[in-house]
Amino acid sequence: MKLLKQLLLACALVSPFIAHAAAPMAKSQAPGYYRTALGDFEITALSDGTHPFPVDTVMTNITPQQALKDLEDVDLKLPLQGSINAFLINTGTKLILIDSGAGELYGDCCGKLVSRLRAAGYQPEQVDEIYITHLHKDHAGGIMSQGAAVFPNAVLRLSQAEADYWLTPANKAKAPAFLSTFFDAAQAAVAPYQAAGHYQPYQDFGQLEPGVEALPAPGHTPGHAAYLITSKSQQLLVWGDIVHVAGIQFPHPSATVKYDSSEANAQTTRARLLQLATQKHLTVAAAHIAFPGLGHIRQHQGEYEWLPINYDEVP
Ligand SMILES: [Zn+2]
Repeated sequence: MKLLKQLLLACALVSPFIAHAAAPMAKSQAPGYYRTALGDFEITALSDGTHPFPVDTVMTNITPQQALKDLEDVDLKLPLQGSINAFLINTGTKLILIDSGAGELYGDCCGKLVSRLRAAGYQPEQVDEIYITHLHKDHAGGIMSQGAAVFPNAVLRLSQAEADYWLTPANKAKAPAFLSTFFDAAQAAVAPYQAAGHYQPYQDFGQLEPGVEALPAPGHTPGHAAYLITSKSQQLLVWGDIVHVAGIQFPHPSATVKYDSSEANAQTTRARLLQLATQKHLTVAAAHIAFPGLGHIRQHQGEYEWLPINYDEVP
């Protein structure tokens, strides 16, 4: 008996070192969707992927030194991975996709939206409406693949001002050269929806349907829109590209990016929406804040702060 006890003790001591072969590293994330509730609506954040965001060359109206110090203050450094998020709203009667990721336009990093949508329990054919915040590649690129509509039953909606800017050839000639491919991509993205009669830009901001209001948010692009989603007095502000780098633009909201059509308008719009979100305690759904990009904003000691929403296993 004593011998058996000694044998068992010896096994227990040794087993952690001999029980398993080395497990391979998984090198992947969870499926890339995140669910939360908003009144009677269900919100699904979808990750299209992350890509290195060249903070030091893209940020304007802030010195590279200050931008890097801001990142250091929140324990981040270059190269910084930037999220590309889109948001699916199930109102109970309609399935609405707000923005669509980069599709095939950003390479292997991204274009994961459709696989994440399927993992989240939906099919592209179920999407009834697509609302685009603006026609940049990382927001509208995902609606089209190989010339065909990725969401064949969906009506495409965006502000008329945004459509007019990107779809007017004369504007391409006047814009900086680095935006040239953005014009081509915007036209290619909307083309299959135009051909199918599924293209409905809206002339006026305001309520587009019950629970969905378009707010003007010009600056990053001329017709940039934010969408205020309301159900049972709960509100979600899907704000597109109001903040590109949270660690920099919350402490320094005047920092802009070289892709802004008008830096001054981008600054004014950011200030206005930060105030709106703070004062009304809105939940914000952000395209480029770390996935899922859902949180609240507060002011603390004169600076804005991002507070990610709490995780709920049963949203
Ligand atoms: Zn963007």
